[in-house]
Parts: sequence; C-alpha cells; structure tokens
Amino acid sequence: MSEDRSRILLVDDEQSVLLTLEAVLKQEGYDVAAVGSGADALKAIRGGQFDLLLTDLRIDEIDGLTLLAAAQKRDPETISILLTGYASLESAVQALRHGAFNYLLKPCNIDEMKLTIARGLEKKRLAEALRERLVELEEANKTIRSFTSQLEGKVQAATAELAERVRELQESRGRLDAVIDSMQDGLIVYDREGRVLRANAFTRALFGLGPEDLVGRTAQDVANITSEPPLEFNQPGLVLASSLDEQLAEAAIFEVEGPRKRFVRRLISPVVGDGSPVSGLVVVYQDITDQKEVEQLKDDFLSITSHELKTPLTSIMGYAQLLSRRLPPEARKAGSDDVIEVIENQCRRMKRLVEDLLDVSRIERGTLETAHTVLDLASLVENTVKKLKGTSPIHEFVVSLTEKPLTVWGDDDRLDQVLTNLLSNAVKYSPDGGKVEVRAARNGENAEVAVRDYGIGIPADQQARIFSRFYQAESVVRSRRFGGMGLGLFISKAIIDELGGSINVQSTVGRGSTFRFTLPLYTG
Ligand code: ADP
Repeated sequence: MSEDRSRILLVDDEQSVLLTLEAVLKQEGYDVAAVGSGADALKAIRGGQFDLLLTDLRIDEIDGLTLLAAAQKRDPETISILLTGYASLESAVQALRHGAFNYLLKPCNIDEMKLTIARGLEKKRLAEALRERLVELEEANKTIRSFTSQLEGKVQAATAELAERVRELQESRGRLDAVIDSMQDGLIVYDREGRVLRANAFTRALFGLGPEDLVGRTAQDVANITSEPPLEFNQPGLVLASSLDEQLAEAAIFEVEGPRKRFVRRLISPVVGDGSPVSGLVVVYQDITDQKEVEQLKDDFLSITSHELKTPLTSIMGYAQLLSRRLPPEARKAGSDDVIEVIENQCRRMKRLVEDLLDVSRIERGTLETAHTVLDLASLVENTVKKLKGTSPIHEFVVSLTEKPLTVWGDDDRLDQVLTNLLSNAVKYSPDGGKVEVRAARNGENAEVAVRDYGIGIPADQQARIFSRFYQAESVVRSRRFGGMGLGLFISKAIIDELGGSINVQSTVGRGSTFRFTLPLYTG
C-alpha cells in the first residue's frame, strides 16, 4: 500500500463493532488503528498522527469528546466523527459545536459511514491544500512586499534625482534669465513658426513698451510695434524667405521715435539644430544712438572745418598768383618765383585734401551729386594722363584705347577725379618707377577702364577694405613714406556707384595692382 493512505483511529469498546468497522475500513483501503478503550485511544493519539478519528461517544470513563479534544490538540485539522446511539444524540450535536466533523447514529449504515469518512477526509485534504496555498501565497506576498519596498526605494531615489535635476534646470534657467535680462542689448527669440518665444527687459525699455509681453506675437506684430523693417517669413513655419537671407547677412539700422530719437541696429542669426534647417531666430537690437550722435558730430566737424579752410586757402592761392605776376625782375632772378610756386603747389595739395574731406562729408550725408552728361571716356583718359605725365620722371604711362569714342553717361569732373586718384596711386605705390598702363575698352554692355602698376601691391586680406574711408594698407601706415589720408578710393567708389558702375582691384604683393572700373555704355 502506498504511503499516502489515510490513517484512521477507530475507537469502540464493543469488540464486535470494532472488528466489523475495522474490516470495512481496511477494505476501503484505509490504514486503520482500532482500539477498544479510551486510555488506549489517548495513547494512540499522543503517539501518532491520524487523519481521522472515528470514535464511539461513550466508551468508558474517557468519552469520545475527550478524545476529540485530544486529537484536535495534537492536530487541529484531524477529522473527528462520532458514533452515537439515539439516546445520546444531544451530546453528539454538542460534539459538532466542539469541532467534530459529523456524527453517525448506531447501528451504522455502512455506506453512510463510508461516505461521511470520505467527505471528512476530502475536507481535510482541501483544508491542507488550502493551507499549502496560503503558505505559498504568504511567500508570494513576502516577495511582493520586498519588491515593493525595493521599488519604493528606487522610485524615491529617482524622484530625488529628478527633483535635483529640476532644481539645477531651474537654477540654470534662472541664471540664463538673469543674463538675458541684464543684457544691454535687446533680444527677441523666435520659434520655428516665427512667433516670439521670449523677449528681454531691454527690448521693452528700448521700444518704450509696458510690461505687456511680446511672447506669442508674430514678427509682423513686432515690426508694427518697433517700427523696424519687417522680417519676412514664408508661412507656415519659419522657412526663410529670400529677403530674410539678405537681412540675415546684413544688419539693418532703423530709427525709433520717442522723447529722444533712437537709432537701433538689428542683427539676426538663425538657430540651427535638431537636424532641421532652421529651428528659430535670434534677433538682437543694439542701441547705437550715442554712436550715431558722435558720428554726426564728427561729420558736422568735418564739414564745417573743411568749408572754413577752403575760403582762406582760395584767397592765399589767389594772392600767390597775384604776387607771382607782380614780382619785380630782380626778385624773380633771386628765385622768389620758385618760392611762390612752392606755395601754390602746397596750396593746391591742401585744396585737394580739403575737397576730399568735403566730398566725404557729402557722401556721408547722401548729398554727393554727379552731373549726367554724355561723354567720351577715351578722350577723358587721354586728357587726364596728359595732365599727370610730367609729374613723375621715373614712370612711363602707357595708354591703350581700342575704341574711340567710348561713350558713357557720366560726369567729366568726377570721372577725372577718379582717374587722377587711380593714376596718382599707381605712381605713388610704385616708388621704384616703371610702367603705368591705362586701358579703356568696351566690355559687353559696359565701358571698362583699367589702371595697372608694377608697384608694391596690396595683401589679399586688405583688398576689400581699401575702399573704406580713412583706410590705408598696414604697410603703408607703417612706412609713413606715402602720405595721404585713405580717402581717394572711398570717394572714387562713391562716385562710380553714383554713376551706376562698379570698381574693384586685383593685386599681388610685390608685383603690382590693377584697378578696374566699369560704367554702363551710353546707348542713345
Ligand atoms: P591714400 O592713397 O591717400 O592712402 P586711397 O584711398 O587712395 O588713399 O588708397 C587707400 C589705400 O589703398 C592706400 O593707403 C594704399 O594702402 C592702397 N592702395 C591704393 N592704390 C594702391 C596701389 N596702386 N598700389 C598699392 N596700394 C594701393
């Protein structure tokens, strides 16, 4: 028989009943211990483990209830079934209250007994299974509790970490805000849709805005408020319009009306990131009012002093000429006429300088005017070269004219000024002498004049700047041997621009330079 057989303790003091029941139960496959007295039964209970106690209620001085109590004490899950006569039915019912599984009336109906025993054992088996499940459940609960507490720990750590990050972020955002708000330039950041993400305090102060926020406004709204030239976005989204590309490259300067008129320079830079071409724009506004005012003062000073210098200079020149005409022959013999010539030459130089300064001031104010007449550029080149030919014995002027007349729409005096400047530079900046070549020819729709020398040349990084006012190449400034104020090319460029042409230079240090200007041909 297998180890799993249920063990039954059978107790009855009637020998015949005991034997019969023992036989029946064994036949059912149970492991049966049959005892005939209460004392033996107690001994059996204390000495071994039983699944089921089947006992007569009345045995001897130790009754069934005592055995029931002993069996439950030993193992609370022991199933107890009491056998009872009709007379002691009351006690049997009481036994149920004390935890008996059931009772059977004597004489026993065997089938009923078998069924009751089977049910009792089934109940026990279920109770045991339940207990095992409970133990497993408890284990599982423990594991879950430990997981939960680990998880809580991790969540707490992560929350603390997150709180720290948020704090750091807030701190750095606060720092950024402080920096942006303490900037002495206006700043507006646009998102990719072309709407304001943020604007700093200086922007509001600059445009005299109240605390109302610019955030969320479009570039057009902002332009209406600030009176700046509008930024043109292609909607939807911040796809840069072609005009904006130009605006990006070039700073715009505009005026803001108010108690004091302000000049503002606007600089735009795109925010590039996230793999998308442009994810926003940063617009910076610089208040350049002070700078503008100083420039204005400088221009005024320039204009006034050059005007003031011109008048006495003209009269010195006039008197020098008069003096030269009235010079007695003996004074002429003594070389006084040479002295007067020096005076006249120096005065002419000075007059040229003063006129240059006046021109600069006109250019700055936008009042440089040029006449527009039909003229032959080829003859102009010949005349100007003729004028300068004698000025330097070590230079040879070589003129090449492929077309004559070369008719353009221009200003004789101003073009003579430009050419004189280019030719004198060619002479001045080739101090060892050599050829100065001048060519005038048609080039497509334009007339082109080129002046070439074989002199000191201009370093590539400075070539673009020589057309700015007062700019002189570094080597020229250092050597101090050439003189000049760095205005000739600035004025020449302004004149050529005004006449609708363009001017440029090609040069190699130590090998010479070629200055070229073009003018639109006169087409009638
Ligand atoms: P200035 O000759 O009075 O300095 P310009 O405006 O005529 O002023 O010329 C500006 C600068 O350009 C000169 O100082 C010189 O450095 C450079 N430059 C002009 N022409 C030449 C040239 N032909 N060869 C070399 N450098 C030149």
